Amino acid sequence: MTPAEARQRDRFDRKSVAVAEKMLRRMREMTHKPAALEPFLETLSRIFVDREDARKPQDIPTVGTYCVMVPPEMIYAQGAMPVKLCGGSYTAFSIGDDISPRDACPLVKAVMGFEEIDAMPVYQNCSLMAVPVTCDCKKKLAGWLSARRSTAILHVPANRERDEDMERFVGELYAFSRQLEGITGQPLSYENLSAAFRLTANAQYQLSRFIDLRRKHPKIIRGTFAMAAMNAMSYTWAPEWTAQMAALNDELEAIARSGENAVRENQPRILLTGSPVVFPNMKIPLLIEEMGGLLAADETCMGERGLYDPPAVADRTVDGMLRALANRSTRPCTCPTFADNRRRIYRIRQLIKDYRIQGVIYHVLRGCLVYDYEYLSLEEEMGKLGIPIIRVETDYNEEDVEQLRIRVEAFLELIKYGGNQS
Ligand code: SF4
Ligand code: SF4
Repeated sequence: MTPAEARQRDRFDRKSVAVAEKMLRRMREMTHKPAALEPFLETLSRIFVDREDARKPQDIPTVGTYCVMVPPEMIYAQGAMPVKLCGGSYTAFSIGDDISPRDACPLVKAVMGFEEIDAMPVYQNCSLMAVPVTCDCKKKLAGWLSARRSTAILHVPANRERDEDMERFVGELYAFSRQLEGITGQPLSYENLSAAFRLTANAQYQLSRFIDLRRKHPKIIRGTFAMAAMNAMSYTWAPEWTAQMAALNDELEAIARSGENAVRENQPRILLTGSPVVFPNMKIPLLIEEMGGLLAADETCMGERGLYDPPAVADRTVDGMLRALANRSTRPCTCPTFADNRRRIYRIRQLIKDYRIQGVIYHVLRGCLVYDYEYLSLEEEMGKLGIPIIRVETDYNEEDVEQLRIRVEAFLELIKYGGNQS
């Protein structure tokens, strides 16, 4: 390591730990934190403050994934552990910023920064990276990573209604499976896929309990806590996360029985949607709740979207199960990377109804065109429903926090005193 590299590494260590610690401290200082949230925060702290690798029950390889469209079931089935590596680090972003075009999104710049700095075990120890080509930034990231690492590039269909496009995606999953076999030596089988389906089905069951609790009692838990729990899933062995979620659900059920709320009665209920919110970049959820709003629900890929419906298996063979995974990974997905986004609007309307949402905050990471494109159609739709919406554009730094604070506060005041108190 040259002296300049050593200085950069030292700066990275100090700054990235400080940001992660600060975000965790702000979360821990919020009122009404359920005791069962602590294991999720500890996971984030282990990965981002203590710089540990993801914990695994056996010495098996890890596979880094860069989108919820990579089926974790395949990775578990073939004897590896998936970790979701979309980057949220401001410090890694500033390193990636120097080696990528100005207008690339911060999420991808952060990934490039982590790769360059070589200081995060959870990134560095991956035996394979799986990058679906969902936008231009991911496409360039896939090329850049594959020049350095063993990388599986998955082409995602732009039009999921056409059978031939879906057929191609099934082919991509077969190719991915061959790469997985290359690192674990374990081919896909009906038995190991079935076992992996059970692992994720258990996690989905606990998530569905959690969703149901939040729907029935929208004030039972702060959305920032929910997003922290979902972010922690990215680095946790599925059965362990399932057990942690079960404990959180048990505690929330007890709270619901006692009739206690996590927030005051008149706090505006907000839906957060848009570009991914990846720890430690928790500034928007924290701002919403520190400014007196309740983040009642989110429609982001580090939230509920990370554990969509279970795959519907019509043909109980390896091929049938892979087809079910191809379907589940793309067809219900509300990410705007697809050409047709009617599902996204439908899903957001449904969330507004289920969680009695009073305002929508639309998060756009600078340079994230796929999400930015969709803003206008959502704004039009919200206009029809009479739901206020604002677009907030952010980057991975803290320079915009004050300006964001003013905008979020004004938005919450508008909801509180503007008559939208249904
Ligand atoms: S925003 Fe879309 S493309 Fe990006 S990781 Fe999430 S689901 Fe994948
Ligand atoms: S979808 Fe947006 S945030 Fe995600 S990689 Fe693409 S440009 Fe970046």
